[in-house]
Amino acid sequence: AKKQGSGNICFFEAGMETAGEAQNQRRRELRSALKQGEIVPYYQPIVQFPDRRIVAMEVLARWNHPKRGVLEPGEFIELAEDMNLITPLTLELIRQVAVDMRTWPQDIRVSINISPRQLQDAALAESVIEAVEQVGIDPTRIEIELTEDSILDDYEMAKSVLSIFRMKGMTLALDDFGTGYSSLRHLQELRFDRIKIDRSFVKKLPASGESLKLIEAIMRLASSFGMAITSEGIERHEQVMLIEQQGVSSGQGFLFGRPMPSGAANALFHRQMAV
Ligand code: C2E
Ligand code: CA
Ligand code: CA
Ligand code: CA
Repeated sequence: AKKQGSGNICFFEAGMETAGEAQNQRRRELRSALKQGEIVPYYQPIVQFPDRRIVAMEVLARWNHPKRGVLEPGEFIELAEDMNLITPLTLELIRQVAVDMRTWPQDIRVSINISPRQLQDAALAESVIEAVEQVGIDPTRIEIELTEDSILDDYEMAKSVLSIFRMKGMTLALDDFGTGYSSLRHLQELRFDRIKIDRSFVKKLPASGESLKLIEAIMRLASSFGMAITSEGIERHEQVMLIEQQGVSSGQGFLFGRPMPSGAANALFHRQMAV
């Protein structure tokens, strides 16, 4: 089930021509950016509690735009999806991640984001696995992050794509948990290894008792299914304390590190190993 792209323009009025041209220009730019290696992985640390050691890095796409500087995914991921470039983009990131991981400590894992649309594509899992094997990353070091809405489009298809990843030893994380509509049956049936609590819950801490109760409930749910929990969006020390008290096993957020280019990630590991 493909979504309608931006191709259904019916009327042209004065001024819209330039908007259409701008759109075409962006499409051309993105296509060439991918070929020119301007799309690169940034890495954001995921730390375990209580010692706050880095255990994984989440791969977040950035566009090193020659004129506009470093662009965030909000500016190009949707376009890549519309243009059917999201899978080539993911594969390109994996190739670069493989190179970067060669100098990381062996026990550090990576998390890779997969778009909802990609889960409706049986060939996706195969091509990701092929790329992973080709570049020689141990698949057990890879976690696949997906959102709840990606499961719902075609549940059976999503299920079979996910089982392919799992068979190769990759783990699965349910991203932005609490913002979508997944049912408990899906949670259990798809056997996620991890839930990532959306940053909107964490944001209201420590002030909001309600948010804390929600986190507590999610925590209980996760542990009864045997899933680990990672909390997103941790920006303040008081938040870490509350979250840790709930038994959340790992966290991610500006407090521990912003997304950074590979050179900075490397430097971070060398510092961590030195202590
Ligand atoms: P996400 O997967 O939920 O990634 C977390 C986002 O939260 C990142 O934004 C990250 O920079 C931001 N973040 C992390 N810690 C904090 C914090 O403490 N405070 C605040 N305010 N924000 C924090 P980013 O890099 O802009 O990515 C946005 C979204 O774009 C991601 O959300 C993900 O859905 C998507 N995305 C990024 N890279 C890829 C990719 O390679 N493929 C696909 N399909 N989607 C991607
Ligand atoms: Ca994510
Ligand atoms: Ca997230
Ligand atoms: Ca998100």
